[in-house]
Amino acid sequence: MKKGLSAAADCLPTDHTISVERVATAKLPTQIGNFKIAGYRSKTSSEEFVALFKGEMRKDLPTLVRIHSQCLTGDVFGSIKCDCGPQLNMAMELIEAEGRGAVVYQQQEGRGIGIINKIRAYALQDEGADTVEANERLGFAIDARNYKQCAEILFDLGLCKVRVMSNNPDKMLALENAGLQVVERVPIEVESREPAAHYMRTKKEKMGHLLDF
Ligand SMILES: [Zn+2]
Repeated sequence: MKKGLSAAADCLPTDHTISVERVATAKLPTQIGNFKIAGYRSKTSSEEFVALFKGEMRKDLPTLVRIHSQCLTGDVFGSIKCDCGPQLNMAMELIEAEGRGAVVYQQQEGRGIGIINKIRAYALQDEGADTVEANERLGFAIDARNYKQCAEILFDLGLCKVRVMSNNPDKMLALENAGLQVVERVPIEVESREPAAHYMRTKKEKMGHLLDF
């Protein structure tokens, strides 16, 4: 085992080094249940991550995980233009019910473009563009996120086998490519209200999300 890493580093691919460091871990009681929260820093950029987890992290047990990308408007303000807030709540509820699991909260607002640019994209959407067209018109990739360090955080927590709560096949592929064993996809479909309907259709039709409607 590599020095300083948890047992799960055993299943880390040999050509892969961990490029994040855990800075602190604390208890976090929430309305949904009692969790632990860990703060991570990237060693290669200024990016910071948070992991919310509960129960024993075991490398032999397929464990519920979610990679959740920060969405200030949905997670904090309760925006109904997207399904992020309810998805995060559902992930926490599923973990609470199971007694074990982890959410990696990735601070890549608006699929990596930042909150200000996301508001610029929303302004274009107010004029009729969809989420993909708006990003393209602003000169951004449809999805600028990179999930490699999120996978490293799951390794660091002690996990090797994961049950991924996501509708996004790119996320599952990214976790697999990083060396995690993706045992199952757990669909996380929440009821979306009317303003989100167009956004959800775009995610399904233009971005390949696995949504059943
Ligand atoms: Zn959102």
